[in-house]
Amino acid sequence: MKAIRGATTVERDNSDDITYAVKELLDRIVESNLIDKDEIVCILFSNTADLHSFYPAKAAREAGFVSCALFSSAEPQIDGALERCIRVMVLTECDRQPVHIYLNGAQNLRKDLTKKMTIAVDGPAGSGKSTVSKIIAKKFDILYLDTGAMYRACALACRECGADTSDGQSVANVLNKVDIDVRYENGTQLTLIDGKDVSAKIRTPEISMLASEVSAHEYVRKKMVDLQRKIAQKSSCILDGRDIGTNVLPDADYKFYLTASAEVRARRRNEENIIKGYVQPYSEVLDEIIRRDEQDKNRKFAPLCKADDAVEIITDNMEINQVVDFIINIIQRKI
Ligand code: C5P
Repeated sequence: MKAIRGATTVERDNSDDITYAVKELLDRIVESNLIDKDEIVCILFSNTADLHSFYPAKAAREAGFVSCALFSSAEPQIDGALERCIRVMVLTECDRQPVHIYLNGAQNLRKDLTKKMTIAVDGPAGSGKSTVSKIIAKKFDILYLDTGAMYRACALACRECGADTSDGQSVANVLNKVDIDVRYENGTQLTLIDGKDVSAKIRTPEISMLASEVSAHEYVRKKMVDLQRKIAQKSSCILDGRDIGTNVLPDADYKFYLTASAEVRARRRNEENIIKGYVQPYSEVLDEIIRRDEQDKNRKFAPLCKADDAVEIITDNMEINQVVDFIINIIQRKI
């Protein structure tokens, strides 16, 4: 039997607010622990004295937790305690290590139980890194940083300034003038140049090739890696790129290296391009993928390569959900 712990807070003591918060908390516990609602033996709630203790249990039943025993109680009034807080303990038969979930105002309540986690996902273009990383970030409710987007923004800035992207000094001059940054809106990363959202503009095939060229310069790498580390140190996160496990976060808790044949990756990229409205023959996409692999693997500074301690996943014959499940299982086993 395992005890999964969690807590959340609500704005007001009413059925609607508590139902929403309890459902969010229990859903996250189920998702992050990869358990089925039917595997839960018992849910124990306790709430601060400023909330009615009938609501959490009622909310759990309404959220579909129907087969387990429920117990809900009010805590005594304690001066200085977190206000309007609901604590939960979920008892399950599963034998994995529990992932405890603390949400909203309760996020800092048990830092000892919710240790910061860093995940590095590297690999060549089209290996499925970003799709997989986004899903995993959602599942564990951690930050996702697409580092490729930052190099793409550098490339766009250089193109807009008319810089010679093969020349390190020319590129450095541009990066000294512009501010490349990322911001999150509803959990989605926006990539910014001087505060302007360029997230869509950086996704063209032309910028893909330019990013590969620009990212080979030492100055660019240093500047972007500093920013990536600054973002990563704030919270649990998953970063995808080419050098995360080897260079940006060499001490990451989990490292994965996704790869697939150039043909399969080109086919995937071609399908994505068609959806985005970029019409390009398959042979051209394949050619660009091969050239980008060459440049990324053979550059002098932080080239694309698998970290010695990364788990390699060959995705040619895998669906996205299979890759996600594989990674989550590895993380779950180690947590
Ligand atoms: O992943 P994405 O295709 O968006 O990356 C664009 C380019 O940025 C890559 O081809 C690579 O040259 C560069 N990149 C890098 N290091 C990273 C992420 C991306 O050099 N961590």
